[in-house]
Amino acid sequence: MGRIPQHFIDELIARTDIVELIGARVPLKKSGREYKACCPFHAEKTPSFWVSPDKQFYHCFGCGKHGTALGFLMDHDHMAFPEAVEELATRLGLEVPQEGGAERITARADEPLYELMARVARFYSEQLAREPRARDYLAKRGLTDASLERFAIGYAPNSWSELLRRFGAGVAERKRLAEAGLIIERERGGGREGERYYDRFRDRVMFPIRDARGRVIAFGGRIIDAGEPKYLNSPETVLFHKGRELYGLYETRRARRSLERLVVVEGYMDTVSLHQSGIDYAVATLGTATTAEHFRRIFRLVPTVVFAFDGDRAGRAAAWRALQQALPEAREGREIRFLFLPQGHDPDTLIAAEGREAFEQRLAAAVPLSEYMVRELSEQSELASADGRARFAEHARPLFVRVPEGVYRELLLARLAQVVGLTPARLEALWTGGKMAAPSTPSPSPARRPATARPARAAGRGGLVRQAIIRLLHYPIIALEVTGSERAGLDASEEPGVPLLRELLDDLREQPAQIPAQVIQRWMGHKDGETLQKLLGREEVITGAAAAAQELRAALTKLADQAAGKRLQALEAKSRTGSLAAEELVEFQSLIERLSHRDARGG
Ligand SMILES: [Zn+2]
Repeated sequence: MGRIPQHFIDELIARTDIVELIGARVPLKKSGREYKACCPFHAEKTPSFWVSPDKQFYHCFGCGKHGTALGFLMDHDHMAFPEAVEELATRLGLEVPQEGGAERITARADEPLYELMARVARFYSEQLAREPRARDYLAKRGLTDASLERFAIGYAPNSWSELLRRFGAGVAERKRLAEAGLIIERERGGGREGERYYDRFRDRVMFPIRDARGRVIAFGGRIIDAGEPKYLNSPETVLFHKGRELYGLYETRRARRSLERLVVVEGYMDTVSLHQSGIDYAVATLGTATTAEHFRRIFRLVPTVVFAFDGDRAGRAAAWRALQQALPEAREGREIRFLFLPQGHDPDTLIAAEGREAFEQRLAAAVPLSEYMVRELSEQSELASADGRARFAEHARPLFVRVPEGVYRELLLARLAQVVGLTPARLEALWTGGKMAAPSTPSPSPARRPATARPARAAGRGGLVRQAIIRLLHYPIIALEVTGSERAGLDASEEPGVPLLRELLDDLREQPAQIPAQVIQRWMGHKDGETLQKLLGREEVITGAAAAAQELRAALTKLADQAAGKRLQALEAKSRTGSLAAEELVEFQSLIERLSHRDARGG
């Protein structure tokens, strides 16, 4: 397959109407200059998926998915890149040009690759019959012939060139083998053309990885005897994106008409063994942590997922990573559980030792996400002491805020509050006040505040209000980082826009929001709703929630200092012309103290 020239791709993007393309798949509603819908990539009730005809770009404020028309076809319709290009070209009545190749792309651009993969899988499976070492190994692991057949397990011969010889007769064929990730190009090409490549998989038991339609898209190979690496996967190719695929999903769906849950394990052998023992709803990630894309695929099929991890250190680390990935996906109606296997066992050996029923009992008793989180955090904190509970609350907060708003979030809050020994409202108030920092980890507040006391030096003037609002819009959750006194300092400011900033800040502190679209949604119909949308629509470079929170707090402090400075000037002027009333004198003194204090601190 030749390369598709970049200018053609540019042209496709420019000429395609992304609103029409996405609108044919997702019901879009016009909203101002853009279009919105409930996101097709994550479950939600209020729309946070936006399509911009101006930018020809879509963006979900909920799950962060974004991209162009091509990206949408790949993500949403699970097309490979050339397939998506062909689709757009067909819509526009264009022919896809090929760079430096006489071969032209067919209607299904990557069909020949799928065919090649199928033929190679058959070849590997034939080779298994001829290799007693591989068959013995699989028999020793307890796999039956039926399992070998169901998972189409094979064997890659112990040769650097067997696959090349059989499937790579010509230059074009060798290119396709390389594109499919089956052969590797030598860094320094050999003298003859035939020596440029070598077989990727040699002397390994081969597990074909199939997509939802059962087409082989990649392989995983396990070494038979000792050697490194123990497992070798196909690289990422046009057919295979490991962050999206789950090994065993096709076989699971074929085995079961109705699915209630999935078990996620770590290896091919575990998956096959579990299926063979009757846990025919086991899948595995492919040498990667569980991704958001995995979760979406899982929850499209089932309401419950159990992660089974080895009880060792590596297993626990993997489980903690999975928990962090799982938090944004947690909501009512979904169950995410964690099963830790006894030391020295993996699912394969455990089910062999205990049998299906015992294993299913373990699955049923697996720890729910919230309990696992509580357990891990408790281990890091001494819950018996007040300091320890404060540390627990502090560690829990960044995890908690990743959970989307809803019933599940409320339940989790209640559970965490119970551990700390507070009411949920009190815990939230403590988080909101930013006063939970344990003595060992001082909060970054006053000492790091920039020195900006005098109004004459304050940068930005009215721009400060705009900066603060924009940060709140992009990361509404940072409203919770603002302290009570920082918020109170705003009351004295008379800068234009401050009333809106105050209202927005108070609203977000009372009713936290996770994503900008939620804020926009709430303010729709409000007299300032349009202003907020415009501010959000601006292209601002904001470098993450932590920086935004610091900038917001700095802006609030500057505004308060400006107000104090102005008031001080007014009082000074008045004192020159007449005399100050008693309370004005007190105020005058406290303002001087405040500003000089700040100067001394800021250095
Ligand atoms: Zn989304």
